[in-house]
Amino acid sequence: MKEIEPFHIAINDPAGLASGIKKRSGRIIGYMCSYAPEELIHAAGFHPMRLFSSKSDISLAENHLQAYCCSLVRGVLEDSLAGRLDYLEGMVFPHTCDSIQRLSDIWRMNTDYSFFADVVMPAKLNTASSRAYITDVLKKFKADLEGAMGHSIDQANLRASICLFNRIRKHLSRIYELKSKFPSILTGTDLFAIVKGAMIMDREELADRLETIVHLLEGQAPLPSTGKRIILAGSICDMPDIYSLIEASGGTVVADDLCTGNRWFEGQMEEDIDPLEALTARYADRTVCPAKHSGNTTRGENLVSLAKTHKADGVIFAVLKFCDPHAFDYPYMKKFLDAGAIKNLHLELDDQQQGKGQLSTRLETFIHMI
Ligand code: SF4
Ligand code: SF4
Repeated sequence: MKEIEPFHIAINDPAGLASGIKKRSGRIIGYMCSYAPEELIHAAGFHPMRLFSSKSDISLAENHLQAYCCSLVRGVLEDSLAGRLDYLEGMVFPHTCDSIQRLSDIWRMNTDYSFFADVVMPAKLNTASSRAYITDVLKKFKADLEGAMGHSIDQANLRASICLFNRIRKHLSRIYELKSKFPSILTGTDLFAIVKGAMIMDREELADRLETIVHLLEGQAPLPSTGKRIILAGSICDMPDIYSLIEASGGTVVADDLCTGNRWFEGQMEEDIDPLEALTARYADRTVCPAKHSGNTTRGENLVSLAKTHKADGVIFAVLKFCDPHAFDYPYMKKFLDAGAIKNLHLELDDQQQGKGQLSTRLETFIHMI
């Protein structure tokens, strides 16, 4: 579908995309984790841009980070130190996994972008005090952004950003819904391009583009469903090949539990209440990642429910090598899936992934088995 082409172009050349955005609106704030309050960044007048590693060889970052940090964190630091992120005005670091927290310190001491903020949201999200705490953190971040912009973020602007992000989330959810219902409607690679593109493209333009894609997909005659129904679970998926390898092995991705997927865009924010209250509810109530806590069984139950809702034949964990939160979480998640008789496979991936052959063999074996 030609309407998806701009998403492929965007994800293949994020620096080119950023330079176009810079020429139009100027100011770009980077982030790496889906706990970054994008709506506030946008309402302040900045462009929120999720950063992924350019997957270049790591050399400069070696001086600051151990080899046992995930390739996302190492790769983004390398890109920054090598000057590949000079289009950024600044960066925001939510308080999540250890690697991102350490990167935050290294970034503050070794880069000279004009804006820097830590957004220290609580790790426990289900306590009586967590909501008030999140609201205070958001207020502080808002003040930081206002200081950088030199003007205040008014309620109307923030509400408009919330409505825009709701529109984007609604369209992404609809695309996922259609993909689950009619898996052949979109290739996995196109789905990947849409969701990754949505994290970096101009948001106003994005909302319109997504709406067009939804209309086109809804107008298509339903295609026969092919392939075993797979759910991708884990941290960040920045590997389009995994979708095509799954398809070549006889599977098709029908849903995900990824922070570069459903966990990032699911749900809608309330538009008629105080905007900061709406933001607080979003970050307190969204599906948690293992760097946060919201009950001992929440994540396992969510994944089982996702698998049942989407009639999954199997779940594939795609976890970045050295991603501690997800590695520690995996045995617990597996227990839930095993108890529900849902077949699952664990893959350890790396941004510098070599040798697709072994990966392909494991996927083929798993998909033939389920
Ligand atoms: S998995 Fe959690 S901590 Fe890691 S980037 Fe995603 S939201 Fe942030
Ligand atoms: S992949 Fe894992 S270790 Fe790396 S930034 Fe995300 S949560 Fe942290």
